[in-house]
Amino acid sequence: MKVGILGGGQLGWMTVLEGRKLGHEFYVLDKSPNSPAARVADGWYPPNRAREFSDRCNVITYEFEHIDENVLSSLGKDTTPPLEVLRLKKSRILEKRFLLYHGYPVAPFEVLRTRELTQLELRKTLVAKAQSLGYDGKGQYVIESPEDLKPLLENHGPDEEFLVEEFVDFSAEVSLIGVRDYEGRVEMYPVSFNYHREGILLYNYAPYDTPLESRLKDIVSRLMEDLKVVGLLAVEFFITKEGEPLVNEFAPRPHNTGHYTLDGAYTSQFENLLRAITGLPLGSTDLKLPTGMVNLLGVSLEDFDVKELLSLPGVKLYWYGKEKRPKRKLGHVNVCGKSVEEVKEKMEVVLKSIYGEAYLGVE
Ligand code: AMP
Repeated sequence: MKVGILGGGQLGWMTVLEGRKLGHEFYVLDKSPNSPAARVADGWYPPNRAREFSDRCNVITYEFEHIDENVLSSLGKDTTPPLEVLRLKKSRILEKRFLLYHGYPVAPFEVLRTRELTQLELRKTLVAKAQSLGYDGKGQYVIESPEDLKPLLENHGPDEEFLVEEFVDFSAEVSLIGVRDYEGRVEMYPVSFNYHREGILLYNYAPYDTPLESRLKDIVSRLMEDLKVVGLLAVEFFITKEGEPLVNEFAPRPHNTGHYTLDGAYTSQFENLLRAITGLPLGSTDLKLPTGMVNLLGVSLEDFDVKELLSLPGVKLYWYGKEKRPKRKLGHVNVCGKSVEEVKEKMEVVLKSIYGEAYLGVE
């Protein structure tokens, strides 16, 4: 099958590499022929050749949400998952309203313009999220006092709309990734525990034991149906101190919290995405071993001792070949172990060897 991928980042890169073994051909649409996925694909198309790209492919999926509307409308056919879901994901406001209107548990929120934010009487800590291009903590502001509005006012015009949520004092952040085929059959990976720093995922591991597992699975399963997703759906949750799940956001594509599946699961999230969208049977989402993942954020291969890292048993390096920029996701390290405890211990060693800091007690 000829598979088209909108976006040429690392998610596309891993999808292509995992999909080679299934015998598929890959075409990538991205601004840059040097993007990670474009470099390993069978062909690259710039955005102004979207129709040609579309005509070449049997099925088109996406690995990036912020694709220009002109590109989407010139494809001339739908994507898998549908374009409608991608359009929802272009705006945090549309996404949260969809979740609320369909009865999913979310943190209380309102939609306010920049100038309305300055008139707000602050009774609780708030998180203001810019409507679009908001990922990895970008365009996101925690507001406890009027001074916290300063950077927001510097970066945004008076009429810009924000999703303004109550700050959730969560006990844990977790995610769950499901995969769904054309017949509506669903498989789910285990729940993973995720640790973010400054709004960016630093590490995660699975399985994470929680009494909420079946409720989380029900939510993901229902959401995949509501969104008519064929392919992957990753859902990020906050678990409140009272033990209730709140949906923070969803992603209809491979997800950073599922990179561990490359080494930890019988079938990786990338392979299962391809199985789903090309009509192959879904692969087992069972874990072979407890596994964790540490992101390489803004550090290059020269910044740490690769030999020392790879001498740890069960540790695998994935380097995306991107240009170094502060906090940018440049690669990741997967860490397998015989038990969750062993994974956590090894992850501490990995975090220390990469960032040179002690992470006392991987949670
Ligand atoms: P997001 O870009 O919405 O995924 O947010 C990135 C990270 O910021 C999340 O994973 C949380 O760690 C934190 N965050 C986002 N929204 C909230 C909130 N309402 N309350 C507390 N933390 C939040």
